[in-house]
Amino acid sequence: MKKTLFAIIIISILSISTVYGMQIGYTNINGIALYKNTDYISNASKPLDLNTKLKIIDKKNDWYNVKTDSGTEGWIEKYFVTVPAEKYVVNNTSYKVNVRTSATTLSENVGQLVPGEKAKYIDTYHSWHIIEFKGEECYVASWLTDIEYETSSQIYLLYDKINIRDKASTNSNVIAMGNRYDSYEVISEKNGWFQIKTPEGTKGYVAGWLTTYNKNYYSESNLEYKRTTDDLNIRSGPSMEHEVADVLSKGSIVKIVGEENEWNKVVSENGIVGWCYSYYLNEVNPLAGKSILIDPGHGGKDPGAISYSGKYEKYINLEVAVNLKSVLEDMGAKVYLTRTGDYYITNKERGKMADTLGTDILLSIHHNALNNNDYFGLSTYYNTIKYTSPSYGFDLAKAIYLNAVTINGVYRDGILDRNYEVLRETNTPAALIEIGFMTNPQEEMNIYNGSFQNIMVHKIANGIVDYFK
Ligand SMILES: [Zn+2]
Repeated sequence: MKKTLFAIIIISILSISTVYGMQIGYTNINGIALYKNTDYISNASKPLDLNTKLKIIDKKNDWYNVKTDSGTEGWIEKYFVTVPAEKYVVNNTSYKVNVRTSATTLSENVGQLVPGEKAKYIDTYHSWHIIEFKGEECYVASWLTDIEYETSSQIYLLYDKINIRDKASTNSNVIAMGNRYDSYEVISEKNGWFQIKTPEGTKGYVAGWLTTYNKNYYSESNLEYKRTTDDLNIRSGPSMEHEVADVLSKGSIVKIVGEENEWNKVVSENGIVGWCYSYYLNEVNPLAGKSILIDPGHGGKDPGAISYSGKYEKYINLEVAVNLKSVLEDMGAKVYLTRTGDYYITNKERGKMADTLGTDILLSIHHNALNNNDYFGLSTYYNTIKYTSPSYGFDLAKAIYLNAVTINGVYRDGILDRNYEVLRETNTPAALIEIGFMTNPQEEMNIYNGSFQNIMVHKIANGIVDYFK
């Protein structure tokens, strides 16, 4: 009798810990379906967006059984899911920190973290950390708490010759160097920088945007796109012996996610995954035939925001816009700039320019500022005033945002509807990005770093590709 009761208690403790220890992952490719079974011939769901949050319910071989926040459930190959390391938010202050229902001090206070108390970290939004608190998703102020990692959590470097530094700053001393896919134990994370342990056991720092949680992260580099030259079978494996999962019509565009012998592993426009015989696939520039107007915000008499150390926003906006233009041109797009130097144009003129040129989209580049240095994060904007369909600029703002926030150390600040003149005074689908807060000293340093900028413009370009697909 005693023994049975003991067993029941153990079982109930175990089942509670699985509920609370549930792993969270994010899709790392745009437009992928979930399957009814662990194969590519069972029924597929509607394709999911990039960076869709998934609760991992079960695992089988190379597959995860997952559920989205909106209730879609199914199986997905684990390579398409990035599972961040297990993290905690820790109150390292000597006072109690309030736990709230949303990312503002005006929201309801539902409890407190006492000094030293930890809570499971889920994400960061609008400079607040989202935590698991009494089984609910709640918010704590990021400037009062720290992110620490579960012991033995690993991150991987994305590139060769990456500097490991003695402080979380591009001005600090280089103490070691790492190469692509070198892995390190992570200790903590702050404002886009990771504290890690070198193999020799010394502690150092690496910039988050140079790292990944997942070596098989598909969206880490630019995806290759191909077009079918005939009606073409998608098979469940890389040979004629495998079952046909779907048929693509001639001229369909697919994303290439793998290769084996003469076969390409592809994701189709409706999210179907499978293998195609590569003889019937031709490489294609993902932005061929598209025209884009890039707007570097401010200029001339209008400096825009002024950074923590006194730099003007108008200059960095132009630098990013010129960099983005060349990346988009490499992808096949025709690209225009609203200004190519330091002069003033009204926002209305910028909006009208897109209509006059007849471009497919308008993207305005900005960097954010606030009179509170604690705030950080990336946001994108759209405007619904003139449009009958609210999705007009929203789809563009969303696609760019979802790509940009896949960068480690870039935090979410939202996809927001704002009555900005440059977005309102145009009939072209238009979005605006605020890449980060120039008034936050750490984010200012990241924004002015060349490798950060290159990675960011590639992610923005990938977002534009996703928008057009
Ligand atoms: Zn601005």
